[in-house]
Amino acid sequence: MVKSINTPSGIISYELTRKDIKNINLRVKSNGKIKVSCPMRSSYGKVDNFVISRHEWITNALDRQSVKAYNMPKFNYDDGDILYYLGDEYTLRVVENDRNFISSKQGELTVNIKDKRDKNMVAMGILKWYTKQANKLLPMLFFQESTKYADMFGSDFDLRLSDNKSRWGSCTPSLRKIMLSRRLIFFDIDSINAVIKHELAHMSECNHGASFYGVLEKISPNYKQYKNRLKQANICSVLAVIFSKKTI
Ligand SMILES: [Zn+2]
Repeated sequence: MVKSINTPSGIISYELTRKDIKNINLRVKSNGKIKVSCPMRSSYGKVDNFVISRHEWITNALDRQSVKAYNMPKFNYDDGDILYYLGDEYTLRVVENDRNFISSKQGELTVNIKDKRDKNMVAMGILKWYTKQANKLLPMLFFQESTKYADMFGSDFDLRLSDNKSRWGSCTPSLRKIMLSRRLIFFDIDSINAVIKHELAHMSECNHGASFYGVLEKISPNYKQYKNRLKQANICSVLAVIFSKKTI
């Protein structure tokens, strides 16, 4: 089960599993998710207090990961390279086939291609695949979230998608225009929704002042945690390669 608690570092969400163990264990995974395991009989209050007592350690671990990730091997469109889709790791498979197409199944993204050595074709295929998924999924998620908060922000929006490198999203409240970067498709749905909520909150407050964060906190109490997740450099460096549209 996923639990969210208030700590001095902001709201922290963690996934709790009960196990036949003696002590409470806490891990921060490379994708920014926090996993806690506890003995079968531990009370929720005890586990919450344990997580709260580690809030600084958790925040530091999340920051450290962003730094460590810069040392990740470079993504090079080779068989076995690691990709990300909706927050999950996928292993790239490059397979020779009479026809060019991409298929995905749990944990694997397979590029079927006439000539395995043609990295440009592999790169183009992957970019096309991500673009297609983003074009399908991002408007759907945006519709879901904006409908949920229609009472606060209205419901007519001009949603645009882009391959923007420097921003995950942006908003022009006077035109009711919201831009989302297709690059978000690398991240888990909760993180994508956090960006959508951030942009929606700009509909009532343009600047990043205290009143903006007041609105944001109401609809996205975990926003600090997602901010950290979106900074994950290991995902970001792979993402930069794929969306650079540069041929190799
Ligand atoms: Zn903003």
